[in-house]
Amino acid sequence: MKYIDEFRDGEKAQQIAQLIHQQVKEGQSYRLMEFCGGHTHAIFRYGLVDLLPDEVELIHGPGCPVCVLPIARLDMAIELARNPEVILCTYGDMLRVPASGGTSLLKVRADGGDVRMLYSPLDALDIARDNPDRQVVFFAIGFETTTPPTALLLRQADQLGLTNLSIFCNHVLTPAAMHGILKDGGPLNLDGFIGPAHVSTVIGSQAYQAFPEEYKKPVVIAGFEPLDVLQAILLLVRQLNEGRAEVENEFTRAVTQEGNLKARKLTNEVFTLRDSFEWRGLGSLPQSALCLRPELAHLDAEQRFTFTSGQSRENKACECPSVLRGLKKPHECKLFGNPCSPENPLGSCMVSSEGACAAYYSYGRYRTQEPLLAKG
Ligand code: SF4
Repeated sequence: MKYIDEFRDGEKAQQIAQLIHQQVKEGQSYRLMEFCGGHTHAIFRYGLVDLLPDEVELIHGPGCPVCVLPIARLDMAIELARNPEVILCTYGDMLRVPASGGTSLLKVRADGGDVRMLYSPLDALDIARDNPDRQVVFFAIGFETTTPPTALLLRQADQLGLTNLSIFCNHVLTPAAMHGILKDGGPLNLDGFIGPAHVSTVIGSQAYQAFPEEYKKPVVIAGFEPLDVLQAILLLVRQLNEGRAEVENEFTRAVTQEGNLKARKLTNEVFTLRDSFEWRGLGSLPQSALCLRPELAHLDAEQRFTFTSGQSRENKACECPSVLRGLKKPHECKLFGNPCSPENPLGSCMVSSEGACAAYYSYGRYRTQEPLLAKG
C-alpha cells in the first residue's frame, strides 16, 4: 500500500476485523493497551472498537505529553510567564491546560504575560535575538518525538552564545512509563501493548525488547491509520494465542530496529537522565525523564530562575490520573461533557488532541453509534 486512503479502506478493515473474530478464543480476554494518544484518536475516529469482538478490550494509555505533565511543573511555567522579564514560548496545546486554581498560560497571557505559541522550537532563537533585553524560555514538553528538536535548539543556542535563552525541560521517556505501568504486576492485568508510532521512528523497535523479556508482554508497533491499528491487534491476538511474547513491527514503512540514529545521538549529546520524575497519574518513575547535561547548565531555566515552592492544587473531581492509568474510561468522570469539554477543559486529558477525554468527546464514542468505516 502506498497512499493514505488505502490505510483507511473500510472493506479491508472489515476483512482484518473478521480475521480477529476468527482467531480470538472464546472466553479468553485480550487486554491490550494502546500506549499512545494518537492511536486512541484513530480508534475512536474510525469506530474500531465496534469492529472488534467482545473478547478484545482496548485500554487507553498515558501517551499524551500534555496529559502526563504534573500540575506542579505547569505551575512553574505559569510562574515564569508571570515574570515581566520573561517571554515564555511553548507549543499551542500547553496554553489551555488548567494549572492550580484553574489558571492557564492563556489566562496569564490575557493578564499581560508574554506567552508565545511556537510551531518549531527553533523559532525561539529569533525571538531571543530580537529581544536582547528579555529572557526567553522555551517550555519544552513531549516524548521522544519532540525531544530532538529541543536538542537542536539547545545545540544552536549554545553555539550562538545566546545568554538570554533557556529551556524549561519536561521531556519524558516512553519505555520508562511502560515499566511504570507493568511494575509489580500492575493493576491493569494487561496482555500486550500496541506500541507508539512516531516515538518508535526515533527510538526504534529495539527499545521495547525488555517487555517481552522481563514481563512476557508482546509489543506490536503500529502506525496511526485504522488498518495499522487493526493489523497490530491481529498480530497481538496471534502472539497471545501461540503463547509468544515478542516485539513486532507493523509500522515498517517508518520504523526501523535502531530508530533515527542521528536524532538519538543529538539527544544523548545534550540531555541526560533525571533520577526520577513525577508523572500525572503514574506518580514518580525512576529515570523516566531528561534534563540538560551539566555542561549546558547555563541554558537550563531551572538553574537560571528561582521558583517559589507553592502548593499545587489539582481539581479533585477530575479523573485524569485514573484515565491515564487506564483504570477509568473518560465518560466515567462526573465532569465529562458537562462542565468539562474541549471548549471548557477542566483537565489536561480534555485539552490535547491526543487526550483520551478529548477523543471520547470529539467522536461521540460515549454514545451508541455506528462505526464510521462502512461495513463491507
Ligand atoms: Fe478530567 Fe475532564 Fe477528563 Fe474528567 S472529563 S477526567 S475533568 S479532563
